[in-house]
Amino acid sequence: MNKVKFLLFFLIFTNCLFANEIIDYVKLTPKEEAFLRNTKIKVITSNTWAPINMYNDKDELSGIAIDFWNKIKERAHINSEIVTAKDWNHVLNSIKNKEADITIGTSYDKNKLDYANFTSSYISFPIAFATLFDKRFIPNASFLEGKKVAVGENYSSHNILKEHFPNIDFVTVKNTKEALELLSAGKVEAAVDILPTIAHLISVNGYYNLKISGTSEHKVHVSFMIRKDYKQLQTIINKHIAMLSPEDKNSIIRQWLIVKFDKTFVGYEYLVQILILILLAILFYSFKQKDLREYNKKLKKLSTTDSLINLHNRRKLDELLNDSKNKKYSLILLDIDHFKEINDIHGHLEGDKVLVELSRLLKNSLNKNDEIGRWGGEEFLIICKNTTEKDASVIALRLKKLIEEYDFKIRKVTASFGVSEAKKELTLKDILANADNALYKAKQQGRNQVVLASSL
Ligand code: GH3
Ligand code: MG
Ligand code: MG
Repeated sequence: MNKVKFLLFFLIFTNCLFANEIIDYVKLTPKEEAFLRNTKIKVITSNTWAPINMYNDKDELSGIAIDFWNKIKERAHINSEIVTAKDWNHVLNSIKNKEADITIGTSYDKNKLDYANFTSSYISFPIAFATLFDKRFIPNASFLEGKKVAVGENYSSHNILKEHFPNIDFVTVKNTKEALELLSAGKVEAAVDILPTIAHLISVNGYYNLKISGTSEHKVHVSFMIRKDYKQLQTIINKHIAMLSPEDKNSIIRQWLIVKFDKTFVGYEYLVQILILILLAILFYSFKQKDLREYNKKLKKLSTTDSLINLHNRRKLDELLNDSKNKKYSLILLDIDHFKEINDIHGHLEGDKVLVELSRLLKNSLNKNDEIGRWGGEEFLIICKNTTEKDASVIALRLKKLIEEYDFKIRKVTASFGVSEAKKELTLKDILANADNALYKAKQQGRNQVVLASSL
């Protein structure tokens, strides 16, 4: 056992080394904030999908879904109460007739969309194939085709495998425990459910003659399901799910492995447990590496993107400008005319909409050679690589016309432009100052125009 424990702790330790600090990027809209302030959320869950949701030894609601909900609830400051339903149908009915607002461990099902919405998934699990102990490794689900496979009727694993492998000979049962019983008695060749469920049930019920022989490439994506009219709750939770780090996820999953396997084992059972443990550890470890790369990419993008208008932010622009040192390029500095008036007359939210719309317009009309970002408030900077001041001024004139002629609905919008070229003898500060001076001149001369730094 010590060796196994050592392996597990080694994996956990190396995982910790990769842990990311949690950076709070979640920004709520005023509507979402008001919703949270004014709404007490009623959570309903079943307790029959161990270890996703279940009762523990102390008869308390526990499980992976419960842990994820608690984490998100805490971070999002959601005021809530939780009740247990007597079965899954009761959960669905409560959401349908709005007696409850959200259920916390399920997966996307288009048939429920007329009364509920699904959040993005917060954790995904492969489908595991349980077989008798002496059977060989099953590399993927196609190996089950033509074989008798027991599965909980309409369970996510059933629906997914049915769709991709219609030739599997399914024997549908009430729940996965029943599936494992059939398997243990030699009446079917395999039983399937998500990996943690199979692992949990084999170990808790002591099926000494069973093992996990493989997992599918298809995964079950676990998410929250929310009553249809609580759109805000869905978007709030999605924002928080997006910010769950691999470390957040692993700290939850890990507990469920340790609790389950931290027992003294004997004989055959001991061997089964060890095999399951090693398989799980390796699987989660490889998930983590992939998750971590994706998460880092996401963080990088968030930290260099303006959250309102979805263009590069100032930090990214600074980075790009520094990278352009000694290269040929021109700058276009653009400032919306009389933007304060738009805010004053139509309100800040309408002002935001103009910024978003204008950003989209600019982005779509530039080519890959140009980088555009938000320089500040209602000011944008465009870096045109390999472009002379004269060519950049042609681009600026085109943008000026585009903005002027675009229908922003609330009123006509124009912008002023300053253009400057990077020259060898100039520092970055000079080049920016030149663009800024040209912009200032454009404002002074009556706005809605392009001024070249070389003309000053
Ligand atoms: P000018 O033609 O001289 O540029 O006039 P202006 O009104 O555009 O210039 P000024 O710099 O006085 O005002 C800019 C305004 O932009 C003030 C500020 O409240 C507003 N602003 C800056 N960032 C945002 C934002 O993210 N959203 C909204 N709605 N307004 C913003
Ligand atoms: Mg302005
Ligand atoms: Mg300004």
